[in-house]
Amino acid sequence: MRRPICWSCELELESGTLFCARCRKIQPVARTEDYFSLLGLPRQYALDPVELERRFRELSRVLHPDRFARAEPRERRLSLERATRLNDAYRYLKDWRLRAAYLLKLAGTDVFSEGRTFADPEFLEEQLEWREALALALADGDGEALRRIAAATRGRLEALEAEVRGMFEDDHWFSELPVDIARRLSRARYYDNIVADAERGAAATGH
Ligand SMILES: [Zn+2]
Repeated sequence: MRRPICWSCELELESGTLFCARCRKIQPVARTEDYFSLLGLPRQYALDPVELERRFRELSRVLHPDRFARAEPRERRLSLERATRLNDAYRYLKDWRLRAAYLLKLAGTDVFSEGRTFADPEFLEEQLEWREALALALADGDGEALRRIAAATRGRLEALEAEVRGMFEDDHWFSELPVDIARRLSRARYYDNIVADAERGAAATGH
């Protein structure tokens, strides 16, 4: 692959270079960069949240608009583009569901192609039970039941996260497990909605 060249002084750079070593000008995001490399993290599911936070803060500081206030327009534009990408990267990697979905996408699996749904018969029954319990508690304005439902669903989400983490530890997850992972991500979306509805309902009961 051809190495990038500094737009200002034409020095040959390493891919992923933030500032040119010679003229110090900020460089555009390379096409080969992904959210992991943008934050200088290995492309894998397991991630140290403290390290993620530290790198995000450090890079945000480096890319802060104040630092480019007197720079030329191109530098300002590039720093803004990088800061936007950095914010996206942080948001995606911080949330386990988004991080998992992003890894599936990077692996080239088509599990999230448009309109695709997952048959999940074992989950269907549970889904209906949650819906029914939620509808009942909402109809009764039963704040305590709603909070109990929210807490129980949060517990399910934690268990799902542990399952997904375990799947990504399999060396062959990208060939053997993408559908199983995607199915769990769909379940997580379902639980997220239940939590949101239950908490909104509990707040509305006002006690
Ligand atoms: Zn340069």
